[in-house]
Amino acid sequence: MYNSDSQTETQLVDPFNRKIEYVRLSVTDKCNLRCFYCLPKDFSEFEQPSHWLSFDEIERVIAAFADLGVARIRITGGEPLVRKDLAALVQQLSRLEGVEDLSLSTNAVLLDKYARTLKDAGVSRINVSLDTLRPERFRRITQGKLQPVLDGLMAAREAGLSPIKINMVAMKGVNDDEFEDMVEFCLEHDFTLRFIETMPVGNTGVDASRYYLGLNEVKSKLADQYELIPGVMRGGGPARYMQVKNTRLRIGFITPLSQHFCETCNRVRLSADGTLYLCLGQDHKYELRPLLRQGISDDGLKNAIIEAIGIKPEKHEFQDNPGQVVRFMSMTGG
Ligand code: SAM
Repeated sequence: MYNSDSQTETQLVDPFNRKIEYVRLSVTDKCNLRCFYCLPKDFSEFEQPSHWLSFDEIERVIAAFADLGVARIRITGGEPLVRKDLAALVQQLSRLEGVEDLSLSTNAVLLDKYARTLKDAGVSRINVSLDTLRPERFRRITQGKLQPVLDGLMAAREAGLSPIKINMVAMKGVNDDEFEDMVEFCLEHDFTLRFIETMPVGNTGVDASRYYLGLNEVKSKLADQYELIPGVMRGGGPARYMQVKNTRLRIGFITPLSQHFCETCNRVRLSADGTLYLCLGQDHKYELRPLLRQGISDDGLKNAIIEAIGIKPEKHEFQDNPGQVVRFMSMTGG
């Protein structure tokens, strides 16, 4: 039961004794890119806007999490910058007592326009997806243009968003000849670089396992060129960091398949339609929208969240059961 007297750390502990300290908040499942490993090329079956949580509904849910001791929120999607007036939501959330860290995951296509406003509204740091620095390859992977993304990154740096982390999905035969170029790009611009393994999520029409590249291979390729020493990075995420010696560059390795990190999972995901997903790779979920629209009290909402955490599964089964493709990443909130 929710204990209103407790002012301490998170009250959310799941059945496997993991503390839930982090919410990924998806504000839309729509995206202005079509990365081939994320969404089918012609996908258009997005959630109806009437099912999206309103900003006030989102604020209520995040306030409930904050009251339960969750201080860190990452805004994501789909592409969060396509949600109208996102900065107004950021402002609402940054004013909430208990919310200490508001970050954003974006493809940066619209960031040139919004970086400054988002920083002023309360976003402190950002993660940007970028799988290639080659315009033609970028178009093949995403169906979009590279230059706005590069402009967005520079605008983010000018606006003082820090750190800026580049998330690169490492894919065999797609971008495995570009790891060093990306390291050099991040060195030049003082970005942090993170590599991610391709996960079998969502039936995109392409078999993700064709492109899968274990990050040990990436690490050893890089170690031929750079002297890597153990590194640390604030953020509480699953990446394991190395640092390029004598530079500020940290390189993170996110290995959901080759070395899964479920035992330290500290997060849940709230989708744009108000579904709380308890695991990226499983179907366990809890619907909050009906409760919100039926007028649930604040304490009732907190109790619902506690109940939801009670069904968080132990682990995903990407490795043991790769055929079990769950929702598209853009739907859960990546
Ligand atoms: N639009 C935002 C962005 O680009 O960061 C947020 C959502 S996007 C779904 C979040 C991240 O998920 C991106 O870095 C994307 O590359 C990654 N992603 C999507 N599908 C994936 C998959 N099958 N395996 C690994 N990463 C994936």
